[in-house]
Amino acid sequence: MPANSAEGIRWNLNDLFSSHDDPRIDQTLNDCRARAEAFSRQFRDRIENLAGLTPEQLLQGLQELESIYEALSRVGCYSGLLYAADTARPEYQDLEQRVEQRSTEIRNLLLFFELEWLKVEDAVAERLIHDPALKLYSHYLKSLRRFRPHTLTEPEEKILNEKDNTGRNAFGRLFSEISSSLTFALERDGKKQDLNLSQILSLLHEPDRNLRQRAMETLYDGLSRHGQVLTFVYDALIQDHLTMDRLRHYPNPMLQRHLFNEIDGAAVDTMMQVVESNYGLGRDYFRLKAKLLGLSRLVLYDQYAPMAQEVTPFPYEQARQAILEALGAFTPAFREIASEFFADNWIDAEIRQGKRGGAFCASPSPQLHPYILCNYTDNLRDVMTVAHELGHGLHGCLSRKQSYLNYDTPLTTAETASVFGEMLVFDYLVARQTDPEVQIALLAGKLEDIFATVFRQNVLTRFEAAAFAARKEKRLTPELLGTLWIEANSKYYGDAVEMPEGYRWGWSYIPHFIHSRFYCYSYVFGQLLVLALYRMYREEGQSFVAKYLALLEAGGSDSPEALLKPLGINIHDPNFWQKGFQEIGRLIKRFEGLVAKI
Ligand SMILES: [Zn+2]
Repeated sequence: MPANSAEGIRWNLNDLFSSHDDPRIDQTLNDCRARAEAFSRQFRDRIENLAGLTPEQLLQGLQELESIYEALSRVGCYSGLLYAADTARPEYQDLEQRVEQRSTEIRNLLLFFELEWLKVEDAVAERLIHDPALKLYSHYLKSLRRFRPHTLTEPEEKILNEKDNTGRNAFGRLFSEISSSLTFALERDGKKQDLNLSQILSLLHEPDRNLRQRAMETLYDGLSRHGQVLTFVYDALIQDHLTMDRLRHYPNPMLQRHLFNEIDGAAVDTMMQVVESNYGLGRDYFRLKAKLLGLSRLVLYDQYAPMAQEVTPFPYEQARQAILEALGAFTPAFREIASEFFADNWIDAEIRQGKRGGAFCASPSPQLHPYILCNYTDNLRDVMTVAHELGHGLHGCLSRKQSYLNYDTPLTTAETASVFGEMLVFDYLVARQTDPEVQIALLAGKLEDIFATVFRQNVLTRFEAAAFAARKEKRLTPELLGTLWIEANSKYYGDAVEMPEGYRWGWSYIPHFIHSRFYCYSYVFGQLLVLALYRMYREEGQSFVAKYLALLEAGGSDSPEALLKPLGINIHDPNFWQKGFQEIGRLIKRFEGLVAKI
């Protein structure tokens, strides 16, 4: 049983509803349903033509839409949180399902609004987007329209949706079924074990080198047995994507993802080039790590080998104090908001049977404060997890000034406060350790996390692009995919890390390639953006703080590029992205210094 210093730390959901059978839940759903029907009667077929609809009436429609979404989010948040806190209770399962089903019905009633807005002629739409009466919704109205040139007619979209279930969605399900049923036979401590994918991957973090090596060999051997099917699935999905790009007029396979992320593709290209030109930092670190482990060179299965010792247990109360102090040193406003999370029980931290694993922060809407769930096991990773989720919570609180449709951020900027909060707490903790071995372990953990996000996800994206380019010429084979994979990885690992032969199958279990193509660069963007922001903070000091708070307060009221501009940031400028690597360089220097000491 892990230590549980967070026992009794449970969230209080009473400001949402009083219990799972609170009659106000159904009242809210009924009310939302009636309002959605009335909304539909009032506006259906009128948005598309807009004849006789004044900007003021459109404004009133948007406000009503927001207000229905707000009310729905209170119910959805409550049922979701109850269920996450105790997934085994049948009453909570029932409520969660019922709310989900009824919310979907209500949302479907409202869907016409966005679809009709897409059909409005450009000139008319432009006029409304710039109408002073609609100023608050100008970004929302404008950004919905970005998919207009790529949307097909309604009957075409309908057929595609239906056929997708037996087409690309079916291939996705096949992939999920194969990867979740994979078993890997491995002998450990004289006993034969059948491990699943995540179990065998976790062995790559074990201290025993021989075990790591066998785990990696077993992993790739197992994957290669399914190689024919995994290749076929990926090949079919890429071809499907290319076909849809042709029909939807996307000139390149990444463009659709850029539109979702509200990012200009040229900025992504610049960012990825800067990442690539810094791969050497990763290699420097791997050479140091090899030295520290007493090896002449790392083999891939040494990449995540633990170094030095774990830190002593970190009880919840101590974490609370450290986090509040670290955040308070940045700005008292952070400390003040974060204190509320602890004082008013917005956090559920204890370990309980039936509670969902992992951690998340739910920021349902501007009218509600966020809630945090984590499973606190008294180690340092958990401190960083709480700091991360609290960062999301700060973002969620600060942007409550925005209205519902301007509240959420796209994926690329969603981690702006969470990763930043983690950095603040990380630096605070490292500075307070006196044992260099513990500091080494902390820094290594941080650097390896950053590399896995910045460098590896960049490699993944380069591979994906190469596979798409190759598919335009010919059908993909395991040999070809293996070659492209090794090529993309060689640029990163170079001569610093040896790649075993089986690694040719390293591409074959990555779910993003199947379910959300070209998603991986968003991780790079998010992490590097925050490292660069953190660098700016360390360079500019207090003058940075107000600008940063304003960025968080802006929520999703404009595109990332526009929101970052007041901070003097140009995401098309390679020098901006390089700032993130200066920060990584600082961590590596510190690591080197400590290694030299012991
Ligand atoms: Zn996060």
